[in-house]
Amino acid sequence: IIRIESVSKSFGPLEVLHGVDLEVFPGEVVCIIGPSGSGKSTLLRCVNHLERPDGGIVRLGGEAVGVRESRGQLVEIPPADLARQRTEIGMVFQSFNLFGHMTVLENIIEAPIQVLGTPRAEAQTHAKQLLQWVRLEGKESAYPRQLSGGQQQRAAIARALAMRPKVMLFDEPTSALDPETVGEVLSVMRRLASEGLTMIVVTHEIEFAREVADRVVFMDDGRIVEIGAADQVLDAPREDRTRRFLSRIL
Ligand code: ATP
Ligand code: MG
Repeated sequence: IIRIESVSKSFGPLEVLHGVDLEVFPGEVVCIIGPSGSGKSTLLRCVNHLERPDGGIVRLGGEAVGVRESRGQLVEIPPADLARQRTEIGMVFQSFNLFGHMTVLENIIEAPIQVLGTPRAEAQTHAKQLLQWVRLEGKESAYPRQLSGGQQQRAAIARALAMRPKVMLFDEPTSALDPETVGEVLSVMRRLASEGLTMIVVTHEIEFAREVADRVVFMDDGRIVEIGAADQVLDAPREDRTRRFLSRIL
């Protein structure tokens, strides 16, 4: 469903991604692990074109994301077309990125109304179902600052799901949370995975990866060093670098 083809990215002189290839199949959960600065966030941001790759291309269901070919060159597509593509790719970040001046319900219905043109009543009904699903019923009228970190992150997940995305990207969704609220967010993600949603998850939660991921990717220095079934990569890594990384964090 997602094909990352030879994606490279530099920031000035710093080459952060060196031609990364990765295909993610429908319903698959792929967890990406790796040291700080290895390019995990940059890779995720290339998937929904928050960063434009310098080389290579990302495809969603066969369609190039963010660019199209014109006379042998890749050119940016118009913002409206990119916005439409992004509705199919939900993203949840490490820092809770809810709109602070809006209630939880308003946060969730904003994009469906503005971008998809969903009627308000229908958007509200769907939002309430989603809030129930992430166990935030009763918090419709709360503002983000009135919620715990774990509650905010579950609201952010509900907001992303409100667009009925084909793929969800998670960038360390629990790393800014208090230990006691990490579990509630992971449990929502576990349920999403079991419902068959395609997910790419950058995480340091090795137990979560072992349990939920179909495949685990180990990245280092802008490259995929190792990729395989979760138990293979986590319990019997083939590469020295993977082994060293795991022994440092476990
Ligand atoms: P972490 O585990 O700490 O989140 P990461 O694997 O997600 O790390 P990235 O955030 O992708 O790593 O960053 C990879 C490298 O690119 C880092 O050296 C970072 O400083 C650099 N970088 C990322 N974004 C930018 C930017 N917008 N401008 C300049 N350099 C950047
Ligand atoms: Mg990161």
